Amino acid sequence: MISKLIGVFGGTFDPVHNGHTKIIQNLLELIPFDEIKVIPNGQPPHRTSVCSNNDRLEMVNLAFKGINQISVDEREIHREGPSYAIHTAREILEEYHQDNIIWIMGSDAFSEIDTWFEWEDFLNIINILVMARPGSEIDSTSMAGTLILERQTSNIDDLSYGAGKILIVDIDPINISSTQVRSNLAAGETVNELILEDVSDYIDSGKLYTKPS
Ligand code: ATP
Repeated sequence: MISKLIGVFGGTFDPVHNGHTKIIQNLLELIPFDEIKVIPNGQPPHRTSVCSNNDRLEMVNLAFKGINQISVDEREIHREGPSYAIHTAREILEEYHQDNIIWIMGSDAFSEIDTWFEWEDFLNIINILVMARPGSEIDSTSMAGTLILERQTSNIDDLSYGAGKILIVDIDPINISSTQVRSNLAAGETVNELILEDVSDYIDSGKLYTKPS
Protein backbone atom coordinates (compact mmCIF):
# COMPACT_ATOMS: atom_id res chain seq x y z
CA MET A 1 0.00 0.00 0.00
CA ILE A 2 1.31 3.48 -0.87
CA SER A 3 1.54 5.62 2.25
CA LYS A 4 0.02 9.08 2.27
CA LEU A 5 1.60 12.29 3.52
CA ILE A 6 -0.79 13.71 6.12
CA GLY A 7 -0.37 17.03 7.93
CA VAL A 8 -2.05 17.84 11.24
CA PHE A 9 -2.77 21.50 11.91
CA GLY A 10 -4.31 22.27 15.29
CA GLY A 11 -5.38 25.61 16.67
CA THR A 12 -7.88 27.54 18.70
CA PHE A 13 -9.20 29.32 15.59
CA ASP A 14 -10.96 31.92 17.70
CA PRO A 15 -11.74 32.98 15.00
CA VAL A 16 -10.11 31.36 11.99
CA HIS A 17 -8.53 34.08 9.79
CA ASN A 18 -6.90 34.60 6.38
CA GLY A 19 -3.50 33.92 7.91
CA HIS A 20 -4.61 30.33 8.68
CA THR A 21 -6.03 29.67 5.23
CA LYS A 22 -3.24 31.40 3.31
CA ILE A 23 -0.38 29.67 5.13
CA ILE A 24 -2.01 26.30 4.56
CA GLN A 25 -2.55 27.07 0.87
CA ASN A 26 1.05 28.19 0.65
CA LEU A 27 2.25 25.03 2.39
CA LEU A 28 0.27 22.88 -0.05
CA GLU A 29 2.14 24.58 -2.91
CA LEU A 30 5.48 23.82 -1.26
CA ILE A 31 4.91 20.31 0.08
CA PRO A 32 2.86 17.56 -1.59
CA PHE A 33 0.55 16.74 1.32
CA ASP A 34 -2.20 14.30 0.35
CA GLU A 35 -4.27 15.66 3.19
CA ILE A 36 -4.06 18.23 5.97
CA LYS A 37 -6.30 17.65 8.96
CA VAL A 38 -7.35 20.91 10.57
CA ILE A 39 -8.17 20.26 14.21
CA PRO A 40 -9.89 22.94 16.29
CA ASN A 41 -8.94 22.50 19.96
CA GLY A 42 -11.66 21.51 22.37
CA GLN A 43 -10.82 23.08 25.67
CA PRO A 44 -7.42 24.65 25.04
CA PRO A 45 -5.11 23.82 27.95
CA HIS A 46 -3.30 27.17 27.79
CA ARG A 47 -6.23 29.51 27.53
CA THR A 48 -9.98 29.91 27.43
CA SER A 49 -11.54 30.50 24.06
CA VAL A 50 -13.92 33.43 23.57
CA CYS A 51 -16.34 31.61 21.26
CA SER A 52 -18.03 28.28 21.84
CA ASN A 53 -16.56 25.07 20.45
CA ASN A 54 -19.44 24.86 18.02
CA ASP A 55 -18.96 28.39 16.67
CA ARG A 56 -15.22 27.87 16.20
CA LEU A 57 -15.86 24.58 14.41
CA GLU A 58 -18.50 26.13 12.12
CA MET A 59 -16.15 28.98 11.19
CA VAL A 60 -13.29 26.56 10.47
CA ASN A 61 -15.62 24.55 8.20
CA LEU A 62 -16.58 27.72 6.31
CA ALA A 63 -12.99 28.94 5.96
CA PHE A 64 -11.44 25.72 4.67
CA LYS A 65 -14.33 24.36 2.60
CA GLY A 66 -12.79 25.54 -0.69
CA ILE A 67 -9.46 23.75 -0.24
CA ASN A 68 -9.51 20.19 -1.58
CA GLN A 69 -6.81 18.57 0.53
CA ILE A 70 -8.29 19.86 3.81
CA SER A 71 -10.42 17.82 6.13
CA VAL A 72 -11.72 19.28 9.37
CA ASP A 73 -11.27 16.84 12.23
CA GLU A 74 -13.72 17.26 15.11
CA ARG A 75 -12.13 14.86 17.59
CA GLU A 76 -10.81 17.50 20.00
CA ILE A 77 -14.04 19.50 19.91
CA HIS A 78 -15.94 16.44 21.15
CA ARG A 79 -13.34 15.30 23.68
CA GLU A 80 -14.34 15.66 27.31
CA GLY A 81 -11.98 17.69 29.49
CA PRO A 82 -8.77 19.39 28.41
CA SER A 83 -7.46 18.60 24.98
CA TYR A 84 -3.79 17.72 24.69
CA ALA A 85 -1.81 17.42 21.47
CA ILE A 86 -0.07 14.25 22.62
CA HIS A 87 -3.38 12.38 22.90
CA THR A 88 -4.43 13.50 19.44
CA ALA A 89 -1.02 12.61 18.02
CA ARG A 90 -1.15 9.11 19.54
CA GLU A 91 -4.66 8.53 18.17
CA ILE A 92 -3.79 9.71 14.67
CA LEU A 93 -0.52 7.76 14.56
CA GLU A 94 -2.44 4.64 15.45
CA GLU A 95 -5.31 5.23 13.04
CA TYR A 96 -2.99 6.09 10.16
CA HIS A 97 -0.10 3.77 11.05
CA GLN A 98 0.62 3.06 7.39
CA ASP A 99 0.91 6.78 6.56
CA ASN A 100 3.39 9.52 7.19
CA ILE A 101 2.12 12.07 9.73
CA ILE A 102 3.61 15.55 10.17
CA TRP A 103 2.48 17.95 12.88
CA ILE A 104 2.26 21.56 11.59
CA MET A 105 2.49 24.72 13.69
CA GLY A 106 3.58 28.36 13.58
CA SER A 107 6.82 29.55 15.16
CA ASP A 108 4.92 31.27 18.01
CA ALA A 109 3.36 27.95 18.99
CA PHE A 110 6.68 26.12 18.70
CA SER A 111 8.39 28.74 20.90
CA GLU A 112 6.15 27.59 23.74
CA ILE A 113 6.43 23.86 23.07
CA ASP A 114 8.08 23.21 26.44
CA THR A 115 4.87 24.32 28.18
CA TRP A 116 2.81 21.60 26.42
CA PHE A 117 1.57 18.59 28.37
CA GLU A 118 4.15 15.77 28.11
CA TRP A 119 5.98 17.79 25.48
CA GLU A 120 9.11 15.64 25.49
CA ASP A 121 7.09 12.52 24.73
CA PHE A 122 5.15 14.44 22.11
CA LEU A 123 8.36 15.48 20.34
CA ASN A 124 9.65 11.93 20.39
CA ILE A 125 6.65 10.37 18.67
CA ILE A 126 6.14 12.75 15.76
CA ASN A 127 7.94 14.93 13.21
CA ILE A 128 7.17 18.64 13.24
CA LEU A 129 6.97 21.28 10.55
CA VAL A 130 7.30 24.84 11.84
CA MET A 131 6.12 27.77 9.73
CA ALA A 132 7.99 30.99 10.35
CA ARG A 133 5.55 33.66 11.62
CA PRO A 134 6.29 37.41 11.45
CA GLY A 135 7.26 38.78 14.86
CA SER A 136 7.70 35.28 16.33
CA GLU A 137 11.33 34.43 15.72
CA ILE A 138 12.45 31.53 17.91
CA ASP A 139 14.89 32.66 20.60
CA SER A 140 18.04 30.60 20.12
CA THR A 141 18.71 30.55 23.87
CA SER A 142 15.25 29.13 24.72
CA MET A 143 14.31 25.45 24.99
CA ALA A 144 12.63 25.70 21.58
CA GLY A 145 15.88 27.14 20.19
CA THR A 146 17.91 24.28 21.69
CA LEU A 147 15.50 21.71 20.28
CA ILE A 148 15.92 23.19 16.83
CA LEU A 149 19.69 23.09 17.16
CA GLU A 150 19.53 19.41 18.08
CA ARG A 151 16.73 18.19 15.83
CA GLN A 152 16.47 20.44 12.80
CA THR A 153 16.60 18.94 9.34
CA SER A 154 16.50 20.90 6.10
CA ASN A 155 14.98 18.20 3.96
CA ILE A 156 11.29 17.30 3.84
CA ASP A 157 12.19 13.72 2.90
CA ASP A 158 13.73 13.31 6.37
CA LEU A 159 10.23 13.71 7.79
CA SER A 160 8.97 10.68 5.89
CA TYR A 161 10.31 8.27 8.51
CA GLY A 162 11.09 8.15 12.22
CA ALA A 163 10.14 10.88 14.69
CA GLY A 164 11.63 13.72 16.67
CA LYS A 165 12.73 15.83 13.72
CA ILE A 166 11.91 19.47 13.06
CA LEU A 167 11.70 21.18 9.67
CA ILE A 168 11.38 24.97 9.49
CA VAL A 169 9.59 26.17 6.36
CA ASP A 170 9.71 29.74 5.13
CA ILE A 171 6.21 30.54 4.00
CA ASP A 172 5.04 33.90 2.67
CA PRO A 173 4.69 35.87 5.90
CA ILE A 174 1.19 36.96 6.78
CA ASN A 175 0.77 39.29 9.67
CA ILE A 176 -2.72 38.43 10.88
CA SER A 177 -3.76 37.00 14.25
CA SER A 178 -7.04 36.03 15.89
CA THR A 179 -6.19 38.55 18.63
CA GLN A 180 -6.16 41.32 16.04
CA VAL A 181 -9.46 40.14 14.53
CA ARG A 182 -11.13 40.03 17.96
CA SER A 183 -9.89 43.47 18.93
CA ASN A 184 -10.98 45.02 15.61
CA LEU A 185 -14.43 43.47 15.98
CA ALA A 186 -14.79 44.64 19.58
CA ALA A 187 -13.81 48.17 18.49
CA GLY A 188 -16.31 48.09 15.61
CA GLU A 189 -13.47 48.27 13.06
CA THR A 190 -13.40 46.50 9.72
CA VAL A 191 -12.04 42.96 9.42
CA ASN A 192 -12.52 42.68 5.64
CA GLU A 193 -8.87 42.09 4.90
CA LEU A 194 -8.42 39.71 7.81
CA ILE A 195 -11.14 37.06 7.50
CA LEU A 196 -13.18 35.42 4.75
CA GLU A 197 -16.58 36.86 3.91
CA ASP A 198 -18.43 33.69 4.99
CA VAL A 199 -16.71 33.78 8.37
CA SER A 200 -17.46 37.48 8.69
CA ASP A 201 -21.16 36.85 7.92
CA TYR A 202 -21.24 34.05 10.52
CA ILE A 203 -19.71 36.39 13.12
CA ASP A 204 -22.18 39.17 12.25
CA SER A 205 -25.21 36.93 12.42
CA GLY A 206 -24.22 35.55 15.82
CA LYS A 207 -23.02 38.98 17.06
CA LEU A 208 -19.79 37.28 18.11
CA TYR A 209 -16.73 39.08 19.50
CA THR A 210 -18.61 42.30 20.19
CA LYS A 211 -17.16 42.65 23.70
CA PRO A 212 -13.41 43.22 24.33
CA SER A 213 -11.73 39.86 25.16
P1 ATP B 1 -4.33 34.27 18.90
O1 ATP B 1 -4.04 35.62 18.32
O2 ATP B 1 -5.66 34.19 19.61
O3 ATP B 1 -3.18 33.74 19.72
P2 ATP B 1 -3.64 32.86 16.43
O4 ATP B 1 -3.82 33.88 15.36
O5 ATP B 1 -2.24 32.54 16.86
O6 ATP B 1 -4.52 33.22 17.69
P3 ATP B 1 -4.31 30.06 16.55
O7 ATP B 1 -5.63 29.45 16.29
O8 ATP B 1 -3.82 30.07 17.92
O9 ATP B 1 -4.37 31.56 15.94
O10 ATP B 1 -3.23 29.41 15.57
C1 ATP B 1 -3.27 28.08 15.15
C2 ATP B 1 -1.94 27.77 14.50
O11 ATP B 1 -1.70 28.62 13.38
C3 ATP B 1 -0.73 27.97 15.43
O12 ATP B 1 0.21 26.93 15.18
C4 ATP B 1 -0.17 29.33 14.98
O13 ATP B 1 1.21 29.40 15.21
C5 ATP B 1 -0.47 29.29 13.49
N1 ATP B 1 -0.67 30.63 12.90
C6 ATP B 1 -1.72 31.44 13.10
N2 ATP B 1 -1.61 32.58 12.40
C7 ATP B 1 -0.43 32.49 11.72
C8 ATP B 1 0.28 33.36 10.81
N3 ATP B 1 -0.21 34.56 10.48
N4 ATP B 1 1.48 32.92 10.32
C9 ATP B 1 1.98 31.70 10.67
N5 ATP B 1 1.36 30.83 11.53
C10 ATP B 1 0.17 31.23 12.05
